[in-house]
Amino acid sequence: MDPYAGFEPSVGEIAAVRTFRIGRGGTLCPLFSDEAWEDGANEARCRNVPPGAVALHPAPDPGCTCGFYAYGSEAAVEYRHERHVLAVVSFWGRVIAGTRGLRAQHGRVEALWLSETVPPELAARVARRYPSVALYRDRAAMLAEHPPTPLDCYEPMPAARRPWSGRWWSAAALSLAVASTLPADWLGGVAVAQWTDGVAFFLLMIAAVALGWRRPDDPAVPRRRLFLFAVALWTVAPFGGTLGVLFLRLPLLEVAVLTVVQWARVVRAARRFPADVD
Ligand SMILES: [Zn+2]
Repeated sequence: MDPYAGFEPSVGEIAAVRTFRIGRGGTLCPLFSDEAWEDGANEARCRNVPPGAVALHPAPDPGCTCGFYAYGSEAAVEYRHERHVLAVVSFWGRVIAGTRGLRAQHGRVEALWLSETVPPELAARVARRYPSVALYRDRAAMLAEHPPTPLDCYEPMPAARRPWSGRWWSAAALSLAVASTLPADWLGGVAVAQWTDGVAFFLLMIAAVALGWRRPDDPAVPRRRLFLFAVALWTVAPFGGTLGVLFLRLPLLEVAVLTVVQWARVVRAARRFPADVD
């Protein structure tokens, strides 16, 4: 089953969580769209159509990516915005659910939690714009009073995040990459450097394979595994001589720079209140 497809729940409204950006006027906007949600009922429309054409199907459609997205639990939310803005939304109409969350046709924001980072004037503007939404400054209180609907198709998400273990893995892998980039003389000659690179490669490959062993349901596993494979390729590149460095290290460096830039932009956008959307 897919994260957001495969299961069509029966009748009734389903509560799920999601995050929003807050626009200057106190509007709630999806992270990747400037179309503000209304107070009360909202209807999703398929946007996967050429400009000017009419949507081919009502949203959501199993074969498309359209519909309002939401998560089964707060642990499942993928975006850093949820550290500042989290909403409980009721969904109805066409609903397609998966292992992580759902896509739906109709949605109404029931409750909204804003972190201390959101300026009080902005929170007041949100309250004026969405009079029917229950506003919270206490996240746990909101989730206790507006619990998300449990669906059978959701897979359990790891409740407690362990950011340090992730950083430890990354730091260890990065030091191996740095060691592999140092001039061979510094390590005591070409033979020693090659031996170190070989050992680093095998350690990284073993770590990448063993990564999800204890927590196979951790959503961070595929991303970290990809990172370990990338560093392993980096350490093994010198064995290919100049060509190896050119065709392995250069593209890896490019991907690394793009990833860091993208990550920095997302972090910056998540902390900006109000968001620059309307
Ligand atoms: Zn569609």
